[in-house]
Amino acid sequence: MSGMVWDYFHYANLARKGLISFKNGRITVTGLRVFLVDVDSLQGLSDRLKEKFGEETGAKAVYDAGRGAGSRATRAHRRFSKKSGEEQARYMAKMASGAGWGRIRVLDASPDGEIVVEDSPFRRRGAGRPSCDFLRGFLAGAASYIYRRRIDCVETECVSAGSKKCRFVLGSRQKFSRNAKLRKFRNQLAG
Ligand SMILES: [Zn+2]
Repeated sequence: MSGMVWDYFHYANLARKGLISFKNGRITVTGLRVFLVDVDSLQGLSDRLKEKFGEETGAKAVYDAGRGAGSRATRAHRRFSKKSGEEQARYMAKMASGAGWGRIRVLDASPDGEIVVEDSPFRRRGAGRPSCDFLRGFLAGAASYIYRRRIDCVETECVSAGSKKCRFVLGSRQKFSRNAKLRKFRNQLAG
């Protein structure tokens, strides 16, 4: 089944079960209040943070906010799906794809996993560096909730830095310090 068809039916199914509601100016999805904003609103917030506090500190703040979003969304979906572990991680990737976070492909759903995202909404033309900090945080927050320990995430390839896709690697802080290939991405987690 194509991604689009899965996404549509999955969300339609949640709506049919009453797990998505539109009422009196409130939208809730599996109990979590959400609202629709254009992608540039969040990008604007991220840009202002980076201008005010510098690239690295700003990116870290956006990453931390993304962590909260990933953790809350996973908790909300957990209440309605019986999934856990890697199955839950793959389920959340589908939900996030369906919610417009880009075409997410889980290459490895473990706590040391790897995820590739096509058409990330956080791409920044000409940024010259990875820019999908909110999505990176979302993945870290979701994984931390699922595996019940602190898991971080770095973006090793990004469309904003000239790659074809965005690539994310999950793991512990120690892993990012010890692994020679990943060490250079550690500054994404500094702070
Ligand atoms: Zn990216």
